[in-house]
Amino acid sequence: MRILVTGGAGFIGSNFVRQTVRNEYPALAGAEVTVVDKLTYAGRRENLEPVSGSPALRFVEGDICDGPLMREVMRGADLVVHFAAESHVDRSISGAEEFVRTNVLGTQTLLTAALEAGVGRFVHVSTDEVYGSLDAGGTPWTEEEPLAPNSPYAASKASADLMVLAFHRTHGLPVCLTRGSNTYGPYQYPEKIIPLFVSNLLAGRKVPLYGDGANVREWLHVDDHCRGVALVAEGGEPGGIYNVGGGTELTNRELTERLLELLGVDRSMVEQVADRKGHDRRYAMDISRISAALGYKPTVPFEDGLAATVDWYRQHHGLWGAGA
Ligand code: NAD
Repeated sequence: MRILVTGGAGFIGSNFVRQTVRNEYPALAGAEVTVVDKLTYAGRRENLEPVSGSPALRFVEGDICDGPLMREVMRGADLVVHFAAESHVDRSISGAEEFVRTNVLGTQTLLTAALEAGVGRFVHVSTDEVYGSLDAGGTPWTEEEPLAPNSPYAASKASADLMVLAFHRTHGLPVCLTRGSNTYGPYQYPEKIIPLFVSNLLAGRKVPLYGDGANVREWLHVDDHCRGVALVAEGGEPGGIYNVGGGTELTNRELTERLLELLGVDRSMVEQVADRKGHDRRYAMDISRISAALGYKPTVPFEDGLAATVDWYRQHHGLWGAGA
């Protein structure tokens, strides 16, 4: 089997590649993996260093908006797993253009190349943020929830999701979509809350908590996220959408308290800052479909995953400079 992984030098993509090359996913065991990645600020070739000696791994530096290159790398691929994206909400608020280019145009460029190459399966990795924002008492979203994205990031991902489904309905391209919740773990560029706060605290700097700190996110360990993606790659129904949730809902304030405790510092290290524009209040997903159809369940207890993540950043402090 030949797998093309886009964004495989980023946080979640590199985890998927490391696990695949180590034959952690039985259905993908022995596969040859080609990674295509532009190596933006968020991507590091070193994220693949633990498996860089494997003859099963090939790395191509390139942009998913480059049609001729995508046609070339797609040739002979049985499976495409598409992680590449501009992924940080705050950056999309200060400038949305790159989000539309990579997330929408890039996805369409890949779909076109996949159709031409006749790939057997195209897994598009998306996010719970396409569903919008939930009230405190609201029922977790199923895959039938209408798309109601709020940030430019979420809007670009929702646009990509619609394009992926359009290629299925129009051309019969065998696509699947995954929608993951907020993901944490090692190898993540320190701009999102967990790696940013940990990096700041390790450097003795304060952490900026948005608004009242009551926004709720559902946390998912990167190993569970990638296992969900692998299950969908193996057994997802063509045209199917699968929520991949982690099940641990926490306010940002609760999360911050846990990080302070793990780092052994007090509340004086928290600086309350003006809220993010259009800040979604809560995300929460129903994972009944992927659980019933593919046997998915999150396996990493949040306390263990968070402690291990903090340890990883402690051991790799300064990797990206002292925080973003
Ligand atoms: P990331 O920002 O860590 O990595 C993105 C990778 O894509 C980087 O290696 C970057 O170099 C590469 N890239 C960016 N633009 C590119 C382009 N034009 N061509 C080729 N490569 C390009 O992101 P992540 O957190 O690993 O997210 C991966 C995917 O998962 C994204 O599609 C994101 O929307 C989705 N997702 C992320 C989360 C989360 O909490 N991080 C949750 C749900 C879904």
